[in-house]
Amino acid sequence: MSADLNLASFRQRLEARREELKALQAISAGSRDAVELDQTSVGRVSRIDAIQQQQMALASERQRKEELVRIEAALQRIVDGSYGECLMCEEPITEKRLDFDPALATCVNCATRSGR
Ligand SMILES: [Zn+2]
Repeated sequence: MSADLNLASFRQRLEARREELKALQAISAGSRDAVELDQTSVGRVSRIDAIQQQQMALASERQRKEELVRIEAALQRIVDGSYGECLMCEEPITEKRLDFDPALATCVNCATRSGR
């Protein structure tokens, strides 16, 4: 781990993002119920609309879940002292890169190689 990383600030950002994602999850769970209730009363076109919106909501819900998993893992790395270290090659991840996304787990070289 690179000692000069501002762990407290990254941790704060990760925790804030985690709260935000959980709030969004709660909101989208509410709107999903609304779509199902509507289906009996609305016409075909708006029903298709509703289904499309629902699929989009499910896709973004999946993304949020994945991001939450990455955030939890990053917070865990802060706890066990490996934060800021690339999971694949163990080289330090640049602060600039972590600043862009504090949940990143790989250095730019490994990310490029694995296509992520
Ligand atoms: Zn690496």
